[in-house]
Amino acid sequence: MEIQVGDGAGFIFWNHLWIGESRLSDQFPRLYRLSSNQNGSISSMGEWKEGEWVWSFSWNRELLEREKEQVQRLVNIIKHVRICEGKADKWRWKASKDDSFTVKSAYKTISAADGRNSIRGSDLELAIIWKAPAPPKVITTAWKALRGRMATCENLLKRKVNIQHQEALCVFCKATIETADHLFLSCDKVYQLWSEVVAWLGKQTVLPCKVKNHFNAFINLGCKKEKRFLLSVWSGVIWSIWKVRNECKFQLGEWNSYKMIVELKSRLWSWMTIHNVQKSTEEFRSWYTAALPGES
Ligand SMILES: [Zn+2]
Repeated sequence: MEIQVGDGAGFIFWNHLWIGESRLSDQFPRLYRLSSNQNGSISSMGEWKEGEWVWSFSWNRELLEREKEQVQRLVNIIKHVRICEGKADKWRWKASKDDSFTVKSAYKTISAADGRNSIRGSDLELAIIWKAPAPPKVITTAWKALRGRMATCENLLKRKVNIQHQEALCVFCKATIETADHLFLSCDKVYQLWSEVVAWLGKQTVLPCKVKNHFNAFINLGCKKEKRFLLSVWSGVIWSIWKVRNECKFQLGEWNSYKMIVELKSRLWSWMTIHNVQKSTEEFRSWYTAALPGES
């Protein structure tokens, strides 16, 4: 994955892997320490002057000569980046040699973006998510949720991003701070959504309320043959929740589980087709054709 810079508002200048092979905080550790805007977005590191984008940084103290040279090196690296107003930043799948998506390349890139070269222990088991027959953007979201790396309000607060208490509340129930466990699993509406999904799969279970445990329990609901399908379902639900959360937060969207499930089904159907996953398994067919719940 690579970041395609649009207006520069969506990614952190120093800590996202948006240019070159490593994060700028790793390439320029000294400048990073001196920055008084360590968590600032790309767009917070400059401004438009007479129609031209000009990079400018703020420091904790006056820079020494050799530090100014480093700034010059930094500017040389980023000077060709085009900031486009009104165009959102996004993740783009970096074309590999054969232009295809591979689990290995995805895993490697995301791990690097996480700032770690290796992922150990229980987290390694989570990497199975990359085998989900689903689009990269969906898997990436699920992977980040599993690793606690989504930009939930709780995570932003941990990173000392300034948010008012009211804004940090779960966008669906407004009753509690938005944590990953709450947003993706235990908020009433979300919990209901998972229950419906589980019921359609023809399973009966109570799912855990921690993201990693939930994932493990969910993908083990079926036999080995069904695992890839279940990975997709799990990723698809997480992705839908995040999408609706953003629509509610930023675009006057609203929660509609009926609509979410209809869309999820049709997406899953096409992902299974694209990835040649047998659709004739009993579970999938009955799940797909099951009568939809009444609109509520
Ligand atoms: Zn809630």
